[in-house]
Amino acid sequence: MNERKIAVIGGGAAGMLAAGYAAKRGAKVTLFERNALLGKKLGITGKGRCNVTNNCTPEEFIKNITANGKFLYSAINRFSPADTMAFFEELGVPLKTERGNRVFPVSDRAVDIVLALKKFCLQNGVHILTERVTDFIRAEDGTLCGVVTEKRSHAGFDAVILSTGGVSYPVTGSTGDGYRLAQSVGHTVKEPIPSLVGLTSDDGICAASMGLALKNVSVTVTDTAKKKVVYKDFGEMLFCHFGISGPMILSASAHLRPMQKDRYVVSIDLKPALDAQTLDKRMLSDFEKNKNRNFANAFDALLPAKLREPFIRLTGISPDKKINAVTAEERRRVVALMKGIPVSVTGFRPITEAIVTSGGISVKEIEPHTMRSKLCPNLYFAGEVIDLDAYTGGFNLQIAFATAHAAATAAAEA
Ligand SMILES: Cc1cc2nc3c(=O)[nH]c(=O)nc-3n(C[C@H](O)[C@H](O)[C@H](O)COP(=O)(O)OP(=O)(O)OC[C@H]3O[C@@H](n4cnc5c(N)ncnc54)[C@H](O)[C@@H]3O)c2cc1C
Repeated sequence: MNERKIAVIGGGAAGMLAAGYAAKRGAKVTLFERNALLGKKLGITGKGRCNVTNNCTPEEFIKNITANGKFLYSAINRFSPADTMAFFEELGVPLKTERGNRVFPVSDRAVDIVLALKKFCLQNGVHILTERVTDFIRAEDGTLCGVVTEKRSHAGFDAVILSTGGVSYPVTGSTGDGYRLAQSVGHTVKEPIPSLVGLTSDDGICAASMGLALKNVSVTVTDTAKKKVVYKDFGEMLFCHFGISGPMILSASAHLRPMQKDRYVVSIDLKPALDAQTLDKRMLSDFEKNKNRNFANAFDALLPAKLREPFIRLTGISPDKKINAVTAEERRRVVALMKGIPVSVTGFRPITEAIVTSGGISVKEIEPHTMRSKLCPNLYFAGEVIDLDAYTGGFNLQIAFATAHAAATAAAEA
């Protein structure tokens, strides 16, 4: 019988899986969660549906990690997306794979994933305490032997797994406590920055078209400093009071490093299915049909209502001009704009609104096979608290599960 006593700090995706696995391996586990309920963030993932993993191979998985992908190689090979899927199905949550290999519970309810993880903890005898950990208790040799919470001290632990998440969506409990705890034993925290987040812009078209969701458009993001395309995609986006957001823009944000005001330009192709020549022909025929109308009415069939007025302003052509007076050069300008409305990015929205935190505890100070601290031999890390993050598609939860599995296995068997 494994007599090891393990404290897991943070009852999110990573903490619950780590606690359950360590207990399954015979350790006596106490899970500390500051909220009254476990998995508050997990419960809102995937717009309440929880994109629990991505149904891909470990090799494909690594390609979707924004930074430090190699660090995950060992952990993801030992607890792969296929293992995550088998894990939840065994716990009684049937799963389905959607577009882009995104995996969701058949029920479309994130809460089913939360309840399954809680059940896994309870089935294996994890002791759950809803207390916020504020400090470690250290033995004379520098190892950890307990934790201090806002209520009391808990001593007698052989190992600690830190899984307190990042700093995004702090209302769910992830407020950066884990960074402070890790720093107290000498760890380096790479500055947390937002990832998978909306982009701000001063360009008038954004505020003027606020609330407009564009479907079936394509975006190309150029790093003007390096004169290089850093992101290209086709899908959905949204104009907001602050700039732009929506699925494609969130994904694009993970590629904008370093963020500098006006360094990146997002070019929106409103008609990706038509090349410039074909679009020009279509416009010529539209203009012909409406030649006696004002330019202000030229786009009734071509553009969504909210976009027309700001788009006309961008063309620089007077809205009162008769369509038959628009020159070929002006028409080419219109076509060029339709194939690429430029939006200059001034920055990220605040980290509190980001889907994930990029940055965190430096992977240089963590053993990749075990998630064990290289500075404090009985401290382990799991989940978003580590300097690891990925694109959208279920990859971030898979990072949490794979690192939690590695940490739990090593901590329980040390
Ligand atoms: C709106 C939204 C949607 C998302 N959707 C998806 C998705 O569909 N798919 C996907 O892969 N990823 C998604 N993510 C990202 C994913 O939720 C996170 O990457 C993942 O939850 C990280 O798990 P974690 O356990 O490391 O951290 P968290 O889930 O943040 O859990 C950390 C836990 O630690 C607790 N805690 C913090 N400090 C203390 C302390 N001092 N003492 C005790 N407890 C403490 C917190 O209360 C919290 O419960 C989404 C994120 C957001 C914000």
